[in-house]
Amino acid sequence: MAFESLSDRLNKALKNITGQGKLTEKNMNDMLKEVRMSLLEADVNYEVVKNFIADVKEKAMGQEVMESLNPGQMVVKIVHDEIQELLGSEDAQLNFKKQGITTLMMVGLQGTGKTTASAKIAKYCTKKMKRRVLLVACDVVRPAAIQQLQTLGQDIDVDVFTMGADVDAVTTAEEAMKYAQDRQKDLVIFDTAGRLHIDEALMQELSDMKASIQPDNIVLTVDAMSGQDIITVARDFNEKLGITGLIVTKLDGDARGGGLLSVRSITNVPVLFVSNGEKMDDLEAFHPDRMADRILG
Ligand code: GDP
Repeated sequence: MAFESLSDRLNKALKNITGQGKLTEKNMNDMLKEVRMSLLEADVNYEVVKNFIADVKEKAMGQEVMESLNPGQMVVKIVHDEIQELLGSEDAQLNFKKQGITTLMMVGLQGTGKTTASAKIAKYCTKKMKRRVLLVACDVVRPAAIQQLQTLGQDIDVDVFTMGADVDAVTTAEEAMKYAQDRQKDLVIFDTAGRLHIDEALMQELSDMKASIQPDNIVLTVDAMSGQDIITVARDFNEKLGITGLIVTKLDGDARGGGLLSVRSITNVPVLFVSNGEKMDDLEAFHPDRMADRILG
């Protein structure tokens, strides 16, 4: 599982000081050094680690902690709260229109799990939120992606709109909106094209789609296994498109976790969901407090 090694090391570093009645500056510094190393080894961004340690230090060296009866416990709580803060101080959600059709454009590099996540969100919103969902196959670059979305749609019993690979993505999206209106859908999810790298052609196509649909949500999928690359990708997509949220996929793998821990504080884009498997139910709404519990479990 992701975060395993970080979790082990952090817990060890903190365990050393929880049993101590009184803390000295030395054992506090030793602990901070160990926490710093664990974060860097987990591939957390250097600047993020620097600020994190400075914040923990300032709070932990405060008089209240140093003189309390159980300073170790208080330090553990400080580290926990700072990790939670890194992940986002509150739960973020998809934006839903009060009336009419809510639109969600899914974007991401090829292979990050965008098509799978589009279908998972469709299922999540159908089952948990009673939404009437339409999935739209706008990845016309890769005909296999259309087929993949249709198969997933059948599995989860959600309508999939496609005009085939010969019609461009913008036209497909526009026709899909008419189709959704006629059938009283209230959530339309557009699966868009991905490429192996960010390039002009991809961004232009996505910008054109954005201008046409004016989506309520633009959600980027990033692969936890790609470490700090998540940050670069999220930053680029955000600058060019303005993304409203992230889905971090493949947390069932052995990702070190640094990308997920860094991305929020650097890009300010919230994580909405995490994906931890290939099955349609392997999607969880993201709760920073629960993730912090898991890391310091
Ligand atoms: P896209 O190119 O971004 O649309 O990516 P796909 O949705 O086709 O996914 C690429 C591969 O990753 C597929 O084999 C998926 O089954 C797999 N995948 C997607 N999400 C996850 C996940 O959370 N965990 C694991 N282990 N595999 C995933």
